[in-house]
Amino acid sequence: MIERAQQILAEVFGYESFRPPQDAVVEALLAGQDSLVIMPTGGGKSLCYQLPSLVREGTGVVISPLIALMQDQVNALSQLGIRAGCLNSSLPLEQLQATEAKLVAGELDMVYIAPERLLQPRSLALFQRARLSLFAIDEAHCVSQWGHDFRPEYMQLNRLRELFPGVPRIALTATADARTRQEIIDRLELTDAARFIRGFDRPNIRYRIGQKDRGREQLLRFLRDEHAQDVGIVYCLSRKRVEDTAAWLSERGFNALPYHAGLSPELRQHHLHRFLTEESIIMVATIAFGMGIDKPNVRFVAHLDLPKSVEAYYQETGRAGRDGEPADAWMVYGLQDVIFLRQMLEGSQADEVHKQVERQKLEAMLGLCEITSCRRQALLAYFGEPDHQPCGNCDTCLEPVPVWDGTEASRKALSAVFRCGQMYGVNYIIDVLLGESSDKSRQRGHEQLSTWGIGKELDRNQWRSVFRQLVARGYLKVEASHGALQLSESCRALLRGEETLELRRDLRTKSAGPKLSGGKSKASQQQLDAEDHALWNELKALRKRLADEQDVPPYVIFH
Ligand code: ADP
Ligand code: MG
Repeated sequence: MIERAQQILAEVFGYESFRPPQDAVVEALLAGQDSLVIMPTGGGKSLCYQLPSLVREGTGVVISPLIALMQDQVNALSQLGIRAGCLNSSLPLEQLQATEAKLVAGELDMVYIAPERLLQPRSLALFQRARLSLFAIDEAHCVSQWGHDFRPEYMQLNRLRELFPGVPRIALTATADARTRQEIIDRLELTDAARFIRGFDRPNIRYRIGQKDRGREQLLRFLRDEHAQDVGIVYCLSRKRVEDTAAWLSERGFNALPYHAGLSPELRQHHLHRFLTEESIIMVATIAFGMGIDKPNVRFVAHLDLPKSVEAYYQETGRAGRDGEPADAWMVYGLQDVIFLRQMLEGSQADEVHKQVERQKLEAMLGLCEITSCRRQALLAYFGEPDHQPCGNCDTCLEPVPVWDGTEASRKALSAVFRCGQMYGVNYIIDVLLGESSDKSRQRGHEQLSTWGIGKELDRNQWRSVFRQLVARGYLKVEASHGALQLSESCRALLRGEETLELRRDLRTKSAGPKLSGGKSKASQQQLDAEDHALWNELKALRKRLADEQDVPPYVIFH
């Protein structure tokens, strides 16, 4: 049967050869075995079930959470002459009935359906009347409660085992940390499944992470210098930031569209369609955009805000360069990102166990940002591939990061936090270190503090960098309600002088945007603070809203 598969690969799909491990997966499915497939985004997972659906008798059922993309996938298959259909609530009744009739009559090679629809008793009865070749459970990480795409209905897909004995199941995902992998196997009851895991390296992607210093200006320069006519995605944390940034880029001559779960389904569909079909276009989006997007020539993925985990970062950046040509994963982040994410996490209603996992994930993400050695090495090590050499193609390899002895500065910073009673946010603490009097500090009598003005050797931005790194490394915590900085246990040794601390020196490189200078800096800073404040308020409002929106992380939605 594998010869038949080879033939279909060439004649129907027009590919010369399989990409490993596609051939092995196809073989396993043709033999009727369950499988778990972990391959990076763009690796070619779809073929693993599309091809066996054609070779085996009966209809291949593809279970996918991505209703918005189903029609596109069906269209693409139809163009290849494959008889495919989809069943979802966005379709007119006549079309649904026609597809159902074809399914039962054995006239479909493949059918796409969302899990909640498949699990309805009526659908299950319908599918039991049809002849099925396989179940493909795409984006299988949605079964993981710890992941950022958790879908409760995925948990029930284990029932397929009993309801459809003899129909092999294949689960596929690009998210593969050990915990998620095990969760998929357990929850879907894939105990005897063959496992196929392909390496995670995406050598054509260049990873770059810089200090945020007026992020939008930095983005503009990056785009103008390196991607003036290219296709790309810009990720932002909030819907408002998405809208503002898309409008801002459009004003500057870029073909930029917003995408987030707050837009009407029609508009989302329209923007998605434009993104998939136009040649020079930028999608500015929340995390609601991307899962399953297959546009091969995305030349850059830019993050204006910090993702919540390394998994999210890897998935999002993985949408760049699917064609194998060079592509950029570009990100800027700052202390404020860390504060927001920590506050969202701590302020959510999630249980403590869940929060602890989220904290660890955020810490790993921060670790990747602050690392001074090869980013790719660190990224791959995180996904269980510890043996890679430095890549020579990420920012830290290309431009080694200068470090400085930040022991003394860190001690001053921690002391100032302590002297102010651990009740104030970063901007105020920096006022104290610089000895910059504001009416607030006069009222509070902090000008009498022993830490008043002890930090004049660094400027405001340098202090921000110090605080960012202290938070990132866990010496300081961010209190949830007001963003006050507080000491954590681990800073004791440092305060006692028993530990030294090397910090990254954040350089303002060309791509880091214009310097904030002299008199202006305070005003720009105030503007930044105001933006941050607005963002924070928006996030709080967002959290209150219970919705089916994917751009809110699970600890926001489900509790
Ligand atoms: P994934 O679901 O793993 O993210 P896709 O299945 O969408 O990836 O495939 C990504 C791209 O790779 C698609 O453009 C697809 O046409 C292409 N592709 C898949 N398999 C092969 C192959 N064997 N040879 C050439 N191109 C392939
Ligand atoms: Mg896919």
